[in-house]
Amino acid sequence: MTEPAEPETFDAVVVGGGPAGATAATDLARAGRRVLLLDRGGRIKPCGGAIPPRLIRDFAIPDDLIVARIRSARMISPAEKRVDMPVGDGFVGMVDREHFDPWLRRRATLAGAEHRTGTFERVSRADDVTTVHYRAEGAERAVRARLVIGADGATSPVGRAEIPGHAGMRQVFAYHEIVRRPEAGGDFEGSRCDVFYQGRLSPDFYAWIFPHGDTISVGTGSAQKGFSLRGAIRSLRASTGLDAGATLRREGAPIPLKPLKRWDNGRDVLLTGDAAGIVAPASGEGIYYAMLGGRLAAEAADAFLRTGDARMLGTARRRFMKLHGRVFLILRIMQWVWYRNDGLRERFVAICRDKDVQQLTWDAYMNKELVRAKPAAHARIFFKDLAHLFRWVSP
Ligand SMILES: Cc1cc2nc3c(=O)[nH]c(=O)nc-3n(C[C@H](O)[C@H](O)[C@H](O)COP(=O)(O)OP(=O)(O)OC[C@H]3O[C@@H](n4cnc5c(N)ncnc54)[C@H](O)[C@@H]3O)c2cc1C
Repeated sequence: MTEPAEPETFDAVVVGGGPAGATAATDLARAGRRVLLLDRGGRIKPCGGAIPPRLIRDFAIPDDLIVARIRSARMISPAEKRVDMPVGDGFVGMVDREHFDPWLRRRATLAGAEHRTGTFERVSRADDVTTVHYRAEGAERAVRARLVIGADGATSPVGRAEIPGHAGMRQVFAYHEIVRRPEAGGDFEGSRCDVFYQGRLSPDFYAWIFPHGDTISVGTGSAQKGFSLRGAIRSLRASTGLDAGATLRREGAPIPLKPLKRWDNGRDVLLTGDAAGIVAPASGEGIYYAMLGGRLAAEAADAFLRTGDARMLGTARRRFMKLHGRVFLILRIMQWVWYRNDGLRERFVAICRDKDVQQLTWDAYMNKELVRAKPAAHARIFFKDLAHLFRWVSP
């Protein structure tokens, strides 16, 4: 009788081939590590697909993945007041996740990672050997790994199994419909994102119309159980003439709103991307942060693999929070202050008329840096904010 073959051994098994996992796998493979990128496949990630120039630059995204270039955002208040915020130089890119994610996974394989379609099931440990069990083509399979990177999204099965507190992660549920662009009519423009701050469309987040060339993402989000996201989108499509376009897909997914306190288990598991909760509060922007998170996870993993010191895994979170923790806190406060009722939303949209606010918002979004050179503008914005909050000025 022949002995059963030993499971293969990888330096790292990356579970999840979205922006976070594909980036982590690419970087680790480029560093010469033996990497398995495991993704369950078969589903297009529901996503508005808006990405900032910083992402396009830092992660070398080719032009042909950008399906629309956005030159302005229109904020729409509960009383239907409209404030246009021109981007200025540059543009916000739009990607279709149907093509973006497979391209990222292909880049990982070109870098040397092995990509397999399979569904993660569990991690087991015996005699200091970590084994990842997954299901592929109806059969259970197993590989050994020195490290498991959980990049498997907001509901992360890796996180739930391995990181205490993961199941309690705060989230909104987001839902969108992919609509074929109507031949004529429809209240939208191909180079403008529309953002609706209206309680009827979202009681605690916002609704959007994001153009993608031939298609449009019409979506909304809320953490309130019982709020009808589908009803809100039906109403938004009817009021904007987008009920005339054919519906290509209806889909939704949770968006985490707060980074987890721990991303690693101090031993052999590290989370990143949505699995670690790294999405900007107030905006729900997660693709850039997922890719940066994937990159920082790869660097932490490489240091861990080199030294065997599991404390290295903690550097991914520390470095991320040093870069973006402050902005996430500001955005969380902003969401808490302004998204509570239509009166406050009306004032919030009114603030967006301010040129300083527009400039600061776009600078922060496009480049992911707070511009320190303009302390006077920051102070002006702060006092204008207070004035609106305490109703010293009318919206
Ligand atoms: C409706 C909606 C609109 C959004 N719009 C925007 C936007 O316009 N701009 C923006 O920046 N962000 C947006 N986001 C957020 C953004 O989509 C996420 O933050 C981003 O996709 C996170 O990337 P990720 O790689 O961490 O996770 P994901 O993209 O969720 O990828 C996780 C991967 O893990 C795989 N996986 C899951 N479970 C398993 C398993 N058991 N075994 C194997 N593989 C598994 C999945 O197949 C998937 O490929 C939106 C989110 C939603 C829900």
